[in-house]
Amino acid sequence: MTEFDHDLFVIGGGSGGVRAARFAAQRGARVAMAESGRMGGTCVNVGCIPKKLYSYGAHYAEAFTESAGFGWRLPGTPTLDWATLKTNRATEITRLNGIYDGLMSGANVLRLQGHARLLDAHTVEVALEGGATMRHHARHILIATGGTPFVPDVPGRELAVTSDDMFDLPVFPRRLAVVGGGYIACEMASIFHGLGAQVTLLYRGEQILRGFDDEVRDFTAEEMRKHGVEIRTHADVARIEAAGAARRVHLKDGSAIEADVVLYATGRHANTAGLGLDALGVRLSPSGAIEVDERFATSVPGIYAIGDVVGRLELTPVALAEGMVLADELFGPPPGQAARRMDYANIPTAVFTHPPIGTVGLSEQQARAQFGAVQVFRSDFKPLKHTVSGGSERTLVKLIVDAKTDRVLGLHMVGADAGEIVQGFAVALKCGATKAQFDATIGIHPTSAEEFVTLRQVSRT
Ligand code: FAD
Ligand code: NDP
Repeated sequence: MTEFDHDLFVIGGGSGGVRAARFAAQRGARVAMAESGRMGGTCVNVGCIPKKLYSYGAHYAEAFTESAGFGWRLPGTPTLDWATLKTNRATEITRLNGIYDGLMSGANVLRLQGHARLLDAHTVEVALEGGATMRHHARHILIATGGTPFVPDVPGRELAVTSDDMFDLPVFPRRLAVVGGGYIACEMASIFHGLGAQVTLLYRGEQILRGFDDEVRDFTAEEMRKHGVEIRTHADVARIEAAGAARRVHLKDGSAIEADVVLYATGRHANTAGLGLDALGVRLSPSGAIEVDERFATSVPGIYAIGDVVGRLELTPVALAEGMVLADELFGPPPGQAARRMDYANIPTAVFTHPPIGTVGLSEQQARAQFGAVQVFRSDFKPLKHTVSGGSERTLVKLIVDAKTDRVLGLHMVGADAGEIVQGFAVALKCGATKAQFDATIGIHPTSAEEFVTLRQVSRT
């Protein structure tokens, strides 16, 4: 033990790194962590949390309009004070940074502020803020450096911004062009539309949200359009140019659109630059993510990696779970408990579009490919609230059931609070619930969620 300064050195104070460091320290390990930016990583600073706060903010726009049907009279037209939203978000994020720092000091983790790189399988060099460097020797090193936005090499790419910039734009964009059709593109399009921007989403393929259930994709695109987001598919960007203070986006079909801000949300790449991995022979996948085995060990003994930098499922709860599994792996499970294992099946997820998507398990297409005979139960309806609000938003609920075993293979929702609702049903799917067990469950009335336990008619097989 004594030849090393630490049992574990964690590089990166984001979701995965903080969780692994804390759980390792709770097992009595001597842990150090280097973070080059702000504690909490992507999720806290430029991801889940500010995104969700802005999504809440954006929902007020429709709430103001819909409240008229319920008798509310507003004194004037509500307007957004962008500066107030930014300031209040920043205050909350600073509070969270402090909480994350407190978690580390409370667990006796040595916190170093600076950029870390590996010198060998047991040595990390940290370039501290202020210029000094320090070397640390650790029995195990964990790389939890996350990811960074990827912008393809289009002419004029320097005129575009990424999601990292969106939360602090100096001026609220009157017109926003969003390139991409994944999680971030769709969420940002919905959120900035809600906040008052005129939004055009440019997606290169046939339909947004590739990888999700096809019916969910179509339904979400339709609802986003109804809300007012312009979605252009088969839209390939040829170049971006300045047009005064604005930007002109030229598409390969010869058309062009003008916007105040162009957001590129075209995926994220693993943060491995400057870590010294090449010299050590740490193997990367073709996409640039760090290759790890089922115990999160890299190709170099003593070096581990978790979270977005391994690029399996880029979600905070996945990074957290991987961090806990690794702590068990290296330092043993808590007394009396079995070591955790990572199971990537039935991981629920939400896309915070307006309306949001909640999903767990297989899409209809995946279920058909894997199980052959399936039964699809689905319903779309106008939620009770909108019978009076005047809103035209509809909700989709959908179950995919294995025809042979009656097991529910996939559960999908597009509608208000889909993330909140699907989180609960994810437990049922994790337990292998059957359609008969859904049917035997009494609903909560009146809710949208009760539809999941009252779907009786097979829509298609
Ligand atoms: P990160 O949280 O990115 O942490 C990595 C840390 O390492 C960073 O703080 C970085 O500064 C530090 N670092 C990097 N290199 C070094 C170095 N050499 N030395 C020292 N420190 C270093 N997920 C969800 O589950 N739900 C959501 O709603 C959601 N919304 C998102 C919205 C956006 C806009 C984005 C971009 C992501 C969102 N995600 C969401 C994904 C989620 O943020 C990530 O999956 C999660 O943060 C990954 O955690 P991580 O620990 O792997 O990496
Ligand atoms: P995604 O992988 O979800 O989407 C990337 C999008 O960009 C796809 O539509 C893709 O198109 C498109 N694209 C990729 N390359 C190009 C290119 N060269 N030119 C034009 N379009 C391109 O990545 P995001 O950046 O949206 O998000 C990264 C990850 O962060 C997500 O996968 C998710 O794991 C996580 N995240 C989670 C959230 C949540 O939980 N709510 C919210 C935000 C992010 P195509 O489909 O054709 O390949």
